[in-house]
Amino acid sequence: MLPLVALVGRPNVGKSTLFNALTRSRDALVHDEPGVTRDRHYGVCRPEGKPSFAVVDTGGIAGEDEGLAGATARQARSAAEEADLVLFIVDGREGASALDDEILAWLRKTARPTTLVINKIDGIDAQAARNDFARYGFNDVITVSSAHRQGIDELIDSSLARL
Ligand code: GDP
Ligand code: MG
Repeated sequence: MLPLVALVGRPNVGKSTLFNALTRSRDALVHDEPGVTRDRHYGVCRPEGKPSFAVVDTGGIAGEDEGLAGATARQARSAAEEADLVLFIVDGREGASALDDEILAWLRKTARPTTLVINKIDGIDAQAARNDFARYGFNDVITVSSAHRQGIDELIDSSLARL
């Protein structure tokens, strides 16, 4: 069985766009409406000349209608719990939000290896975005633009090193 990497984060941070970039597919639903991806969605990242790994795109941790206790949140949690590595996706443009803080709190409880992935760094200062999330205390931080395929190869290498 391939090792499993889970994409976790609040709605609209770009999980599905990152899923597509990693799996080079258009399978995941990408939408401007938060919470469009309701179910778990699996794919395979097959980097050239490197080991493959499975990727699961989770729905938003908290749909506005259901909060952290809802069914979508439970799906995302169980995906994170069964993963070999969690990629905690945040939005570099919007910076840290209260919902990110909440997700971080339960991610710490799952105690899975976790990399902080700061997405949407196209056209913004990546270092400033890193500074904004420095208080989260991650050793592993990667900045990417999923929409523009920036930083994706680094993210793949960093993930493989942790699997
Ligand atoms: P999800 O809810 O976390 O799955 O987020 P989506 O992948 O559906 O993306 C939400 C919105 O953010 C969409 O409008 C995407 O086009 C946009 N988006 C995703 N990644 C990036 C990125 O790297 N840069 C920018 N500027 N927008 C992005
Ligand atoms: Mg999605």
